[in-house]
Amino acid sequence: MNSPTPKAPHVNPGAGHPAGAAESPVDETAKVSNFLRQIIEKDLAQGTHANRRWAGTPGDAVHHAAGKPDPAKIRTRFPPEPNGYLHVGHAKSICLNFGLARDYGGVCHLRFDDTNPEKESQEFVDSITDAVRWLGFTWNGSTSQAEQVPAYFASDYFDFMYRAAEHLIERDLAYVDEQTPEEMRANRGDFATPGKNSPFRSRTPAENLARFREMAKGKHADGAMVLRAKIDMASPNINLRDPAIYRIRRATHHNTGDKWCIYPMYTFAHPIEDALENITHSICTLEFEDQRPFYDWLMDRLAEGGLINTPQPRQYEFARLNLTYVITSKRKLAQLVAEGKVSGWDDPRMPTIVGLRRRGYTPESIQLFAERIGVTKADSWIDYSTLEGCLREDLEHKAHRGMAVLDPVKLVLTNWAEVFGSDGYLETCTQPALPHSSIADGQTPPPDRQFQMGNEVWIEREDFEEVPPKGYKRLFPGNVVRLKGGYVIECTGCAKDANGQVTEVHAKVIADTKSGTPGADSVKAKAAITWVGVADGREAEVRLYDRLFADPQPDAGGKDFLAALNPHSLKVVTAYVEPSLAAALPDQKFQFERHGYFVADRNDHGVGGKVVFNRVTGLKDSWGK
Ligand code: ATP
Ligand code: MG
Repeated sequence: MNSPTPKAPHVNPGAGHPAGAAESPVDETAKVSNFLRQIIEKDLAQGTHANRRWAGTPGDAVHHAAGKPDPAKIRTRFPPEPNGYLHVGHAKSICLNFGLARDYGGVCHLRFDDTNPEKESQEFVDSITDAVRWLGFTWNGSTSQAEQVPAYFASDYFDFMYRAAEHLIERDLAYVDEQTPEEMRANRGDFATPGKNSPFRSRTPAENLARFREMAKGKHADGAMVLRAKIDMASPNINLRDPAIYRIRRATHHNTGDKWCIYPMYTFAHPIEDALENITHSICTLEFEDQRPFYDWLMDRLAEGGLINTPQPRQYEFARLNLTYVITSKRKLAQLVAEGKVSGWDDPRMPTIVGLRRRGYTPESIQLFAERIGVTKADSWIDYSTLEGCLREDLEHKAHRGMAVLDPVKLVLTNWAEVFGSDGYLETCTQPALPHSSIADGQTPPPDRQFQMGNEVWIEREDFEEVPPKGYKRLFPGNVVRLKGGYVIECTGCAKDANGQVTEVHAKVIADTKSGTPGADSVKAKAAITWVGVADGREAEVRLYDRLFADPQPDAGGKDFLAALNPHSLKVVTAYVEPSLAAALPDQKFQFERHGYFVADRNDHGVGGKVVFNRVTGLKDSWGK
């Protein structure tokens, strides 16, 4: 499917999120209305679908979930083609379709549109199923994930589609065309020129039926002929100029094997899938707007013929998600994987759902994002920071805090033994896992974290300056700072190597100044710096991910998107983390104080005892600054 060319780069911070929301109290949980909600509410109020007429065809048998569906319910569907991994754009469509069904007491079907056997596979079916489940949705009306019945497959309806095609032929509404592809293209005309009828268009239904059956029996070569709907070669809508509806393709299908050598075209198959599943609102992206007249033509003809239930499904279009710094073309994402520009489909820089998940995104943050950007009929660009903002909002109350030193240098407290009796003495420090301000109403505060301060700790290299720049408040000789959650210290100097590189920072601990004790305020510290004890800190591999592209619209206007790759999208550092972080489970998210949000890598953390974290996002939107 070709994506429409992006229009002018109007960046929308998030439709549906009213400007000035910060000033006025806003019910953040309220669903913002949109044109689709209005259509559905009207249909429910008018009982549009309540008096369903059953055609009594084999089509009804496809409701393998629960017999005849409850006509009072709305039904939507999410219809991916299993030819790739889902991305953030699909997530918008998933949240929209499943969300509408949930909000209006309806049902959303997960349906695989598997009509292109060469490109499809079980691997993609599985990954798509996982992605929808992970985002938090169930399908086919089941209420619990455990009871979930299998998803729907377009290929389950191939028999019906074949019958529908013969039905059209019998009514002289379809014909077999043996023009070459070049002739067909030339005779289609263009926007300015009407098309020309094919010399095969006037064949009788009996001749067409015989020919079509030969096609199905494998009597003709791939591409030798196609079945076309007989509509109007002069139509101003090129999609109505006798579109192809069946083609010959000898390919093994992941579901039907070698049963068929002819396959329906997407434009023919899709409306039929919707009709057989009693979909009420078939919601798709804007590029299908010009296909709607054919969708309706086909539904009208099959309804007249008594092949499908009525009222028939209706198609509605919304604007696809365009996200700055992100590519949402499956083909281009596949190219990034194939050419090794990323480590795989689940590389944490990929906008795929598996990539976002590994990066540390939560289902809730993606649902919030989908809600916030809203649905409209106008193409626009959403700024990447909107997505990151939704994640920060979600993690603020969930992600436990912890200290990590990403660019470590050793700090030695030279008077430790004098104050505490021995250099081996360790002082236990305690800090909340969530600060008071991040504990939501009704949330039970998690247990405090504990870590040890000793005579040696790791600090950030940038927290020491031998000669401080103006306004610098951290460590420099003579300055007094607090080690966060521990003691106040006074810097005395440093040791350096032959190149002048600082190898150790020196300071003296000031007795009786530990955080949380009565003496804590007895000495005024200019700053509090983060640190990790040498005694109990753990070495960690920290992957500092950044945006994959440096250009906000990497593939707009036919640009070479590979040239826009951000050379700094991944930097790996060896860091030290406090014990509570080292004990993380894979996928667990944290806020590393001052550094941002991090997640224990779902693939690599814990393997061989290694501690591996991915940076999810910074604490604030500071990109490009
Ligand atoms: P293809 O080019 O392979 O058809 P596709 O991205 O359209 O790619 P589908 O598997 O057909 O992939 O997509 C499933 C559904 O997701 C479709 O209904 C499609 O309209 C929707 N979708 C795809 N991309 C976006 C996007 N960027 N924003 C919103 N919805 C999208
Ligand atoms: Mg598509």
